[in-house]
Amino acid sequence: MKRILITGGAGFLGSHLCERLLKEGNEVICLDNYFTGAKKNIVHLLDEPYFELVRHDVTMPYFIEVDEIYNLACPASPAHYQFNSIKTIKTSVMGTINMLGLAKRVKARILQASTSEIYGDPEVHPQPEGYWGHVNPIGPRSCYDEGKRCAETLFMDYHMQNAVDIKIVRIFNTYGPRMHPNDGRVVSNFIVQALKGEDLTIYGDGTQTRSFQYVTDLIEGMIRMMNTRRGFIGPVNIGNQNEFTIAELASNIIDLTGSSSRIVYRRLPKDDPKMRQPDTSLAQKELGGWGCKVQLKEGLQQTIAYFDSVLSRNEIFINGIKA
Ligand code: NAD
Ligand code: UDP
Repeated sequence: MKRILITGGAGFLGSHLCERLLKEGNEVICLDNYFTGAKKNIVHLLDEPYFELVRHDVTMPYFIEVDEIYNLACPASPAHYQFNSIKTIKTSVMGTINMLGLAKRVKARILQASTSEIYGDPEVHPQPEGYWGHVNPIGPRSCYDEGKRCAETLFMDYHMQNAVDIKIVRIFNTYGPRMHPNDGRVVSNFIVQALKGEDLTIYGDGTQTRSFQYVTDLIEGMIRMMNTRRGFIGPVNIGNQNEFTIAELASNIIDLTGSSSRIVYRRLPKDDPKMRQPDTSLAQKELGGWGCKVQLKEGLQQTIAYFDSVLSRNEIFINGIKA
């Protein structure tokens, strides 16, 4: 049995990771300040004897004896990370310094949940890990993009200078149950709009692309990465090899929900990347043939069922409190 700390464990991805690692027989400590996460996401785990919940902000030091750390704490949707941009960059930079310091002290292996945003608005397509990116350092997305880039730099520096056992994964757009209904990301927005019979809001003309992966495929990739041999540090892209336009996503969601919603077009936000598709050859090679198994349609059906039940019970939580 390993003792594992998951920062941001009460969020969308963190809650799935807590669940899976507990199921595999580990002791899991979920640390979160509930900025965008919610107790509701992990409440079903509270009776598990090997699950612990800690309310804490990663920008402050935290000490615990653990074998592994998954560092996920950071708001992930543009609306949430731009809400308090200074706090976002502090979370990525100071939070990462605190977690790397902890890993160094207790000799834990640590994995960073990095992002495809590292590549910015890419000029290389699909994006291999060797591509350095095309990122605006002073735009509305910079607090997130540059915070995550700095976190990768810190991971490398702690590894080279202090031999900390690190792993870095670059996560591409991931969706599934427990996404926050109000977080403004495209999958949750379109599904909630379709289920409520409201217009689906496409920003720009809908030709921009993203590569959407279902949450279970990501969690499998993250755990495989954590368990790779010492010295293999990444970064490794984890995302769906298939790319979709936002217009395609909208029409898929309208079909799958049987909604009578229409599509309306809104202004494209500044610095919105035009395309996003991972080169996943490294993940396939190093993570035991890893690849996405869940097709977009199947994953959307699961996610639609989740939002349908959330909306029918009127269960929308803000900062852990039922709204
Ligand atoms: P999320 O917003 O649901 O989860 C983030 C969690 O971190 C929340 O529970 C939040 O309360 C917590 N948190 C934020 N600031 C904190 C702080 N200062 N101290 C402690 N906890 C804090 O988002 P998510 O989609 O689950 O993303 C999780 C991680 O994965 C993030 O680091 C994100 O950057 C990364 N990621 C996600 C995606 C995606 O498509 N979902 C893509 C790339 C990277
Ligand atoms: N988007 C959209 N309508 C929405 C929300 C988002 O057209 O209601 C677009 C957004 O402009 C972007 C894409 O969908 O081009 C993905 O947005 P999201 O915020 O989910 O993720 P990110 O831009 O960080 O990849």
